[in-house]
Amino acid sequence: MRETERARARAVIDLAALKANVRALRGKAPGAAFMAVVKADGYGHGAIPCARAAVEAGATWVGTATPQEALALKAHAGLPDDVRVMCWLWTPGGPWREAVEAGIDVSVSAEWALEEVVGAAEAVQKEAAEAVQKEAAEAVQTAAPVQTVARVQLKADTGLGRGGSQPADWAGLVRRALEAERAGHVRITGLWSHLACADEPGHPSTRQQLDRFREMVTYAEAQGVRPEVRHIANSPATLTLPEAHYDLVRPGVAMYGLSPSPDLGAPADLGLRPVMTLTAPVALVKHVPGGHGVSYGHHYVTPGETTLALVPLGYGDGVPRHASGAGPVLIGGKWRTTAGRIAMDQFVVDLGGDDVEAGAEAVLFGPGDRGEPTAEDWAQAAGTIGYEIVTRISARVPRVYVGG
Ligand SMILES: *Cc1c(COP(=O)(O)O)cnc(C)c1O
Repeated sequence: MRETERARARAVIDLAALKANVRALRGKAPGAAFMAVVKADGYGHGAIPCARAAVEAGATWVGTATPQEALALKAHAGLPDDVRVMCWLWTPGGPWREAVEAGIDVSVSAEWALEEVVGAAEAVQKEAAEAVQKEAAEAVQTAAPVQTVARVQLKADTGLGRGGSQPADWAGLVRRALEAERAGHVRITGLWSHLACADEPGHPSTRQQLDRFREMVTYAEAQGVRPEVRHIANSPATLTLPEAHYDLVRPGVAMYGLSPSPDLGAPADLGLRPVMTLTAPVALVKHVPGGHGVSYGHHYVTPGETTLALVPLGYGDGVPRHASGAGPVLIGGKWRTTAGRIAMDQFVVDLGGDDVEAGAEAVLFGPGDRGEPTAEDWAQAAGTIGYEIVTRISARVPRVYVGG
């Protein structure tokens, strides 16, 4: 028996569903390149297997938040050389040099970041030039070329109020980036931004952000920027806003088969299928009398004689404690609800007198078509969004890949 088959719990990741989701999303944005967003370990699904599967389904870019995530993909994912990797969440002193050498596209929102990436490119270029001289002197073979020009994507804050350059700072950033490009240190590969309310159809801020993006792109291009890609569309914009598609779309959550918002419909309405299924074998079933308190704080007391099932998953696995007394579980063919508090490692379900054997499968969430709850059901039970439900499933739960 394989290790995962004996596992206490597992998250099955259906890569065939992920690939079908990528194809469905590409169908919604046929003129745009596809960046598979795999930040936070692929929203909990595993960045490397998901990046590979997305590329098989036609993604030509992979996006992460942190440079560490991007460097790990470059080092270990074995993606084809022409697949571009981009990351956007930098802090001062970050691994700019490693990113330049690895050919990663880096996002720049402010002049401090531009200065750091220019410094890194200068250092790489100086070293490369010295290596060439040394090789010429020794008449040895030239080593494999390293990337020496930094690939920089300028980020505009068109209204999200998070990352990106404010419109008032844009001219300065564009000017400085063009100087660095003319000096041969950077290539401005992209102009981009991020939407605040695309998951709320018709929200007036989306129109304003698209207008501002057009103005900021037009300004930069008038100054001489020649970007390879201009992009602003996340999952909801990919699904519902063709005018936001530009040259590239950046879906995350929809690729994992979740709807960005119940307002946009269920996954199936959007042509998507949830990729993660979280299950565990029931660890214990027992008969208890009425009036029995269940789990810490006794927030649940059995209303009468009943059977209780112990499910070996808890908040240490990323099951939200906020869903105590509310989170749904399929056991023995029926929906049940967590009884009492979800603890670190386990929670209890009242089977209402049904007899289920220890070892029977408890399904917390999955695609929903076997009658099981979905991540969206857990999101509602916990007062959060489906994104958080899948992303928070911790490393203690082994991922089992199927359909690869
Ligand atoms: C997370 C993220 C995305 C993907 O967002 P979804 O809503 O999951 O599609 C795209 N772009 C940026 C900058 C992000 O941070």
